[in-house]
Amino acid sequence: MLSSTDVFVIGGGPAGLAAAIAARRHGFSVVVADGAKPPIDKACGEALMPDAIAALKRLGIAVPASEAVPIRGVRFLSSGLSADADFPSDNRSLSIRRTILHRIMSERAAELGVDLLWQNVVTGISGGEVKVGERTIRSRWIVGADGVNSRVRRWAKLDVQSRTELRYAFRRHYRVAPWSDRMEIYWGKQCQGFATPVSDKEVCVAVASRNPGVRLEESLPEFRELSARLDGCETTSAERGSISANRKLKRVCRGNVALIGDASGTVDAITGEGLGLAFSQAVTLADSFVSGNLTSYQTAHRRLAVRPLLMARLMLTLDGRPRFQQRVLQVFRKRPEVFRRLLALHVGALSPIHVALDGLTLGWGLLTA
Ligand SMILES: Cc1cc2nc3c(=O)[nH]c(=O)nc-3n(C[C@H](O)[C@H](O)[C@H](O)COP(=O)(O)OP(=O)(O)OC[C@H]3O[C@@H](n4cnc5c(N)ncnc54)[C@H](O)[C@@H]3O)c2cc1C
Repeated sequence: MLSSTDVFVIGGGPAGLAAAIAARRHGFSVVVADGAKPPIDKACGEALMPDAIAALKRLGIAVPASEAVPIRGVRFLSSGLSADADFPSDNRSLSIRRTILHRIMSERAAELGVDLLWQNVVTGISGGEVKVGERTIRSRWIVGADGVNSRVRRWAKLDVQSRTELRYAFRRHYRVAPWSDRMEIYWGKQCQGFATPVSDKEVCVAVASRNPGVRLEESLPEFRELSARLDGCETTSAERGSISANRKLKRVCRGNVALIGDASGTVDAITGEGLGLAFSQAVTLADSFVSGNLTSYQTAHRRLAVRPLLMARLMLTLDGRPRFQQRVLQVFRKRPEVFRRLLALHVGALSPIHVALDGLTLGWGLLTA
């Protein structure tokens, strides 16, 4: 049994696998340990935004068309009103079941020679050592990719948050032919519902709220159109819950330990940006291993989070404000280019300066709606 490695990744979810693949592509020896058995599922809206697809490409992963569903854009719905916006034409988006994404990523990691230790819980780290069950493995770099409730974050004393806005989310799948090729966001009084097609006969549905008591089935009647679509449909997965938060850490590295993915801070699920962020972080983390210095990763990590956090905060200004939601949707219907350009900003195809005028148009529209 192996006793040392260049990189030890704790957590084999999408962030951990991306970190492992990126490091292995630079020639490092890599071990990944995860307490769960693959393929690993998780509460997720299952959308791969354009930056996620681009970062996967940089990891040498092209999601086969047969495994995913192309997503054309986004639709907002609120009390009988709806507004649509498409992604810019060269910014593709896909949706894919988490279990399928996990299989594709673990196969890629195995193919590159990453040592994958499934059903192996890491119980501690100390100096350059990782404790896995009864074994201790020495590692030059230790990566905490152990998700939103990261223990590595605590062990490395990186649990200092500059700002956290907690929400709670649940997801489930329904056997139904997709009725739209857009990701749908249903704005309710106290929560949002999300619907994303994941195959030609299955739709992923999630709900997020600041109230931990809001569960999926109970909140569906709040979204009349969605509820009508799902009426009588068989469920194909168990309800799964997770925290969804805008959480920013003061630091994501200490000594030879670096955090990645949800362990390193999160953006609210409403952005659909968690996976894209994790994959982009993986690319820059591996680059910093090459330079032998994690400072560049810390800087890049902060930069990568700026746009998704900004968009999360912008979108959540609608949370719990039904009249405001209606007025924004009215403006988006009257001026579809404003919604389209805000979506382009969301996916990084336009800079905030380019959409400043749209912000003014939106503001003026709200005043006069
Ligand atoms: C409702 C909801 C909808 C979302 N929708 C989207 C979306 O549409 N698009 C998008 O891009 N993002 C979305 N996100 C965010 C996305 O799901 C996360 O950002 C992503 O799962 C983070 O991956 P991760 O690998 O960091 O964490 P995880 O997927 O949580 O993986 C962590 C892994 O670490 C393992 N682990 C934990 N502790 C240990 C230990 N001690 N030893 C060994 N293994 C351990 C776990 O078993 C797990 O496999 C959504 C989130 C929520 C809650």
